[in-house]
Amino acid sequence: VKRVYAFGKDAQGNNVTEGNTHMKAQLGGKGANLAEMANIGLPVPPGFTITCQTCMEYANADNTWPEGALDTIQAYREDLEARMGKKIGDAADPLLVSVRSGAPMSMPGMMDTVLNLGLNDESINGLIAQTENPRFAWDSYRRFIQMFSNVVMGLDGDLFENAITAMKHARGVASDTDLSADDLKELVAEFKQIFSENVDAAAYPTLVVGGSVQFPQDPSVQLQLAIEAVFGSWNNPRAVLYRKQNKIADDLGTAVNVQSMVFGNKGNTSATGVAFTRNPANGEKEFYGDYLVNAQGEDVVAGIRNTSPIADLKHVDGLEDAGRELEKVFVTLENHFRDMCDIEFTIEQGKLWMLQTRVGKRTAAAALHIAIEMEKEGLISKEEAVMRVDPEQLDQLLHPQFDKNASYDVVAKGLNASPGAAVGEAVFSAADAVACAEAGRKCVLVRWETNPDDLAGMIAAEGILTSHGGKTSHAAVIARGMGAPCVCGVEALKIDAEKKQAVVTGTDVVIKEGDMISIDGTTGSVVLGAVELVLPELTGDLDTILEWADEFRTLGVRANADNPEDAELSRNFGAEGIGLCRTEHMFLGDRKQIIQTFILNEDPAVRDKAVNELLEAQTGDFLGMFKAMDGLPVIVRLLDPPLHEFLESPRALDVEIAKLEAMGGDAAAIAEKRRLMEQIDAMSEANPMLGLRGCRLGIVYPILPIMQVRAIATAAAELKKQGLDPRPEIMIPLVSVVPELEKLRGVAEQTIAEVAAEQGVELDIPVGTMIELPRAAVTADEIAAQADFFSFGTNDLTQTTFGFSRDDVEAEFVPQYLEQRLLPYNPFATIDPGVAKLVKMGVELGREGNPELVCGVCGEHGGDPDSVKTFHAIGLDYVSCSPYRVPLARLAAGQAAL
Ligand code: ADP
Ligand code: MG
Ligand code: MG
Repeated sequence: VKRVYAFGKDAQGNNVTEGNTHMKAQLGGKGANLAEMANIGLPVPPGFTITCQTCMEYANADNTWPEGALDTIQAYREDLEARMGKKIGDAADPLLVSVRSGAPMSMPGMMDTVLNLGLNDESINGLIAQTENPRFAWDSYRRFIQMFSNVVMGLDGDLFENAITAMKHARGVASDTDLSADDLKELVAEFKQIFSENVDAAAYPTLVVGGSVQFPQDPSVQLQLAIEAVFGSWNNPRAVLYRKQNKIADDLGTAVNVQSMVFGNKGNTSATGVAFTRNPANGEKEFYGDYLVNAQGEDVVAGIRNTSPIADLKHVDGLEDAGRELEKVFVTLENHFRDMCDIEFTIEQGKLWMLQTRVGKRTAAAALHIAIEMEKEGLISKEEAVMRVDPEQLDQLLHPQFDKNASYDVVAKGLNASPGAAVGEAVFSAADAVACAEAGRKCVLVRWETNPDDLAGMIAAEGILTSHGGKTSHAAVIARGMGAPCVCGVEALKIDAEKKQAVVTGTDVVIKEGDMISIDGTTGSVVLGAVELVLPELTGDLDTILEWADEFRTLGVRANADNPEDAELSRNFGAEGIGLCRTEHMFLGDRKQIIQTFILNEDPAVRDKAVNELLEAQTGDFLGMFKAMDGLPVIVRLLDPPLHEFLESPRALDVEIAKLEAMGGDAAAIAEKRRLMEQIDAMSEANPMLGLRGCRLGIVYPILPIMQVRAIATAAAELKKQGLDPRPEIMIPLVSVVPELEKLRGVAEQTIAEVAAEQGVELDIPVGTMIELPRAAVTADEIAAQADFFSFGTNDLTQTTFGFSRDDVEAEFVPQYLEQRLLPYNPFATIDPGVAKLVKMGVELGREGNPELVCGVCGEHGGDPDSVKTFHAIGLDYVSCSPYRVPLARLAAGQAAL
């Protein structure tokens, strides 16, 4: 097996790159694209990449090296030294390298990087001699010790930061850049001391010299420890959490890139920066990013100093040429990758070097805008444009925003780093954010700047607010990736994380832990107090992409809605009908009383009265629904849930009775309550979801379906008389045997005929059934003979196929199953292949039994992009999902067809 791949040029200037962009599984994203950039002639510092497979072999063998791997690495190291004409650790002219992680999937901030590797007490002299810049050399050495200690040895970074701060105090200077070469040399000695005192000798016996741990001087030891640390970082808790969050497999491993160093910290004609070829927040075609003069590595992302915008670069003395070249590189990269790219670069004494590129993360708004613009520019096709937008991401566009009509005072302004608004309690640490969310309260995480350790808190919070860092800072990048609102770089905010409060300078505003605050990531505003939120209008870009998706898709999209407002909303979102109108929601509120009266009274007169009241109310409901969906199908499901859902809980009644008794309440009233409690108790079932519900209700209480069908037919007749085009369809739930359907279909048809005759209107109302029990799926041919349509209720079908009770398992063991990877994903969120097989069987058998049969899906799965793909492949006619998922389902259905 080939474990190591070279990239960049040889000593003669020939490209000796062995990999390319298609080898991400072996080389990781970073390694594959370093190779690709070298292949297309961009300036990449030479190096080599150790494969992800080697990482996994190493990890799986309990952190021991596969045979021969270290020899291969040694050979590539010698080759790199020959290509560079320098040796790592050389006392006269040392080669310095970085050791960089890079997984196949981009995992920003998850893995660790070591810069300036190869420095020791001898090679430092070579670096000083070669650069004639002792300050730079000592600064590089102290950075190396610091990073190596932190990343490779796991020492607390503060140990070193505190030493720097102490040194600055002692010298009376404000900035790191004000420290002299001698100061830095002194710091190097101190850092080595800190290393000796804090590294565990027992864990690193090979580092013990003369009785105590010493900072390793041998570059081979430095290199091997650094590579092992990158391999190890694949399994650090941050990385594991990120993968879980983003559904990335645990067995991919990370590659390690060993790359010759270039220096952005060699004075005022050197710089380092990060950029995007377009604006990743809104998709505008403009150069976007930050740079820092005379700085190295992650100084930009870490927000240590305030950065300048990338567009200025070509106006800065000594950086103009590199700035102009960078803009050309942007164009080259976009034309090559045919997408927006993000870039890390360094300018060393006026010369531009490319250190990284990848297809850049972007907000949903930017994804839409970029896809449409690139189609217009002729860079990509319409099909590709549709494929470029992640349906899940559309959710972001339907994120709440500040209500324009609300009045509020903006107390501070920052950068609009990730769109959408968030309202919640201010919290000042990731742990507090997690605690707050676990207690069921919403919070906004307020930090000076976030770092990878804050990830759990960032996930828990509604939004993120930082006082420092630019639009490419950690907080901004991660928030955009998660679709969480983020305002960053609010300089007026002075945060005291210890005291858990922040003051807005120049005002008397103090934000304390627990205070409600609101942030608007679209505008960068920070507000003290809770601002009213509203849903945004759909943008033109979203409309365009969805129309393009509609051109390709063959799967219909309907909505699950049970009131006229939701029906109208879904229609505006492009729903082609209602796939599921649940009638039980119409029995709540004031109506609960009526249905309770029906359930709890044996007296036919009382019952009839209740049914008539329900009939009147239901007719009104359906009038509204059919009107809102005029001309489009509305599938009404007859009453489905177990009746006890409409009754009070016997336990609550029991408590009430006990209270009444204790207060010496009226004996007759107490007796009446007790009778009620006993009656409800008698109706209770051990497994109500498998009990008296669905079509079984209609068999036991035939008056219920008659009433509902009458209401549907009456509403339809009424609207027809008004000249409208109502298209109701009647759906019978939870059928398992044909006679159930036969019987209820008969009831429905007879009732429809009666209403038609009474009203003098012709009514053609299809009657179909839900397929949500395995028995129904496997006998679908027989059932279809009695049905005009099938709608697969994949929620119940998943419950009954697995024998899982949804309400119980989602809290109980499914999370454990996911954790232990017994299930790849939650089958209630994305359709399980086994359940999908039943759906497929149901469709195929059903169409045998009735060639005209229309088949759809109305479970939650209808709004899940992965499931939509499956349903498209099965050949269903439509999916039906909640109104806000309709745009997403349209896009996913379009993509499924491509
Ligand atoms: P991450 O995955 O966190 O972005 P990187 O491996 O890209 O980590 O390293 C972070 C930064 O370190 C880079 O953006 C770059 O500025 C700096 N860096 C890495 N390798 C080199 C190098 N060979 N020369 C100069 N700077 C480097
Ligand atoms: Mg990093
Ligand atoms: Mg990087």
